[in-house]
Amino acid sequence: MKLTALASGLLISLCSAFAKPQASPNIIFFLVDDMGWQDTSLAFHSERTKLNEVYHTPTLERLATEGTLFTNAYACAICSPSRVSLMTGQNAARHKVTCWTLRKDKSPEPNHPHLAPSTWNVNGLQPIGAGVPNSVEATTLPEVLRSYGYRTIHVGKAHFGAMDTPGEDPVNLGFDVNIAGFAGGGPGSFHGDKNFSGKWRGADPIWDVPGLDKYHGQKINLTDAITREAISEIDRAVADEKPFYLYMAHYAVHAPWEDDRRFIEKYQGKGLPKQQATFASMLEGMDHSLSELINTLDRHGIQDETIIVFMSDNGSPQQCQRNLPLRGFKISAYEGGSRVPLVVKWPGVTKPNSRTDYPVIIEDLFPTILEMAGNPPTPNEHIDGHSIVPALKAPDTNHPDRSLFWHYPNYYNQPAFSSIRRGDWKLIYWHSDQSVDLFNLSQDLGEQHDISKQHPEIVNDLRSGLGKHLRSVDASMPILKASGKRVPYPDAPLAQD
Ligand code: CA
Repeated sequence: MKLTALASGLLISLCSAFAKPQASPNIIFFLVDDMGWQDTSLAFHSERTKLNEVYHTPTLERLATEGTLFTNAYACAICSPSRVSLMTGQNAARHKVTCWTLRKDKSPEPNHPHLAPSTWNVNGLQPIGAGVPNSVEATTLPEVLRSYGYRTIHVGKAHFGAMDTPGEDPVNLGFDVNIAGFAGGGPGSFHGDKNFSGKWRGADPIWDVPGLDKYHGQKINLTDAITREAISEIDRAVADEKPFYLYMAHYAVHAPWEDDRRFIEKYQGKGLPKQQATFASMLEGMDHSLSELINTLDRHGIQDETIIVFMSDNGSPQQCQRNLPLRGFKISAYEGGSRVPLVVKWPGVTKPNSRTDYPVIIEDLFPTILEMAGNPPTPNEHIDGHSIVPALKAPDTNHPDRSLFWHYPNYYNQPAFSSIRRGDWKLIYWHSDQSVDLFNLSQDLGEQHDISKQHPEIVNDLRSGLGKHLRSVDASMPILKASGKRVPYPDAPLAQD
């Protein structure tokens, strides 16, 4: 009830806050799944890395020469939380969809020796008024864009709400069109001749990608099939003279790792491990999709009227090559879990070939895109994201004095944690034993040296800032089995002083 009331308040304030926009550029949000910070030939680090030499993403390189590259961009460390933050502008601690969703009312977390589950929103994102327990109801980014007159197009992976709930279908969350999106966070198969089904690997049919029957039996890659569908939707929007928001959410390069047959030969015989060659082919297939969308904009003569945002939803998985120099991988608290590629091309605004170390987290894209569409949201206590338009207009602009927050009160695959980054400092609070690690990212990007003992004042300051944020959003915490009490917020010892 409380959440619904909050969400309703948000809807009312959003509706009143957004009048007719001044301009309506087309917007393509090109979201890659599980692409790590170094899984590209474009260097996001201050120096080129080994992976930059192995992978080949020429279109992303070209996009960066036409726009702004962000070296300090973050998502959540796992799929559903990132996607819900993008859709709502809310930090994961607030929306409480903190782990991956699929089955209604069921968490994927295994048994844990010390912890019992938190009350996280296991049913994901839902439309206002849906009344699904353990879900967040919110006005979504495409819903607001649609109110501006945009055609809102969803292509690819959704992963917003659990099965058998309204939120499993993007059409119930503000999209006019849904192609191939459902509750699942991965496809059964990338191969059309396997009907995009996981039957070949004995997987549950719940992973089968819906809505692409016309490609079944064909030797076509899923990345290619959904790109063709996206192009048709661009053609339609242009014919109808509608500005469009295309959410091009690739299933690539998430598991199952299967060769993109268009590109695999190039990587075979290079001495790469088989899995890495496969992964490289999927990355290039994804990059080729971006080139085909750009070619479509050219064909319609609308490249100068179309913003392109390229981003990933979390770091590279544990099974893939380490994104050195970063530590960790998808779901982990370290930079390898959450630091992601981000490039934005905004014709007439972004400086060609510009780079910025301005800090960004995925919920920032909600107010950013609304501002790009002509109407920045008015300050609203339920939106955590900050518009990055100042950094797009002036990449050398000073950093805002702000903290970035991550919150994972779950223990699927990786330990439960909350973390905060402020300036160069990053503090991780581990839920299981309430210990902390402190890193200085400018000196130790690989998070090898915990220096919490040397800097007690900074630790206290960051514990306090993180605790304040978690309290302000009534963040869920796991339960300590020994006491039956929930894990204290990281500033609890300070509060007792
Ligand atoms: Ca993901």
